[in-house]
Amino acid sequence: MYGKGIANGLWVTFKHFFNTYVDDIRYAGRKYMRQENFQVRQGLKTQGAFTVQYPDEKLAVPERFRFVPFLVTEDQDPTRMGEDWCTSCGICAKVCPPQCIWIVRGSDPVTGRPVPQPEAFFIDIDICMNCGFCAEFCPFDAIKMDHDYELASYDRTNNHILDKKKLSKPHSYWKAIAPTTALEEAIDRGGWEHSDNIKSMKKAGKQATPATKDNMFPARKLTDALPETVVVEETSAPAPVAEAAAPAAEAKPATTAAAPAASGDKKPKFDKQAMLAKIREKKANK
Ligand code: SF4
Ligand code: SF4
Repeated sequence: MYGKGIANGLWVTFKHFFNTYVDDIRYAGRKYMRQENFQVRQGLKTQGAFTVQYPDEKLAVPERFRFVPFLVTEDQDPTRMGEDWCTSCGICAKVCPPQCIWIVRGSDPVTGRPVPQPEAFFIDIDICMNCGFCAEFCPFDAIKMDHDYELASYDRTNNHILDKKKLSKPHSYWKAIAPTTALEEAIDRGGWEHSDNIKSMKKAGKQATPATKDNMFPARKLTDALPETVVVEETSAPAPVAEAAAPAAEAKPATTAAAPAASGDKKPKFDKQAMLAKIREKKANK
């Protein structure tokens, strides 16, 4: 009969509308209080409305969901606790299509020679288009796409340029939000450790921790609180800046331009404010 489908559809809508009130009585005021109730309401056996009461309730995102990137820090190896996995190679800044990654390479405070850790790392999350190229190309698994999508604020100039402190999250966080991918990566690396660690362990005749599902979280359970990430503040870093891996040739940060030419001269400290001013200027011109 013509229109039978419409009538059926309206009947389904009416049933859910009516059952929403039946549900309210059945849950006796606890409908929105328990995670189990939320799972039932989102499942096939639900009687009432499917509506998600955001922000009190949130749908789980799939493992491969990607929002803005974050930097992985060590939280397992006691000798490297809190250190960045990033070696400031600059590859992510080069491949980033909208050029929103800014890196300042770290250097040894005594010798002034470059060290494989970033002194500063910025991502302008307003410009980031969540493509995930940085994470795909990073040879050290040091930058990953986060699941945290609640980053809106009223101040795009300051709050949306994330520095190293805001970007850093422990490796166990990555394992918790993307267990399958983290395991695959660790198997490819040859162990749970950072690839540089695995290399030096091999040289010393030691075995890296074999990557299996069972030893993903040796020190604590998934449900335990994540450890505090130890991050060195960019402004307090005593080291001079050797070089900045700027995303584009014309966008070299102020720190590089200010570096003296003579190799024996004392180089100026990294100036975070000057760098931020440069990024803001670039942002204004986008
Ligand atoms: S590609 Fe990876 S290791 Fe290289 S600078 Fe980017 S995050 Fe750091
Ligand atoms: S996700 Fe894409 S746009 Fe965002 S920082 Fe990485 S490479 Fe750049």
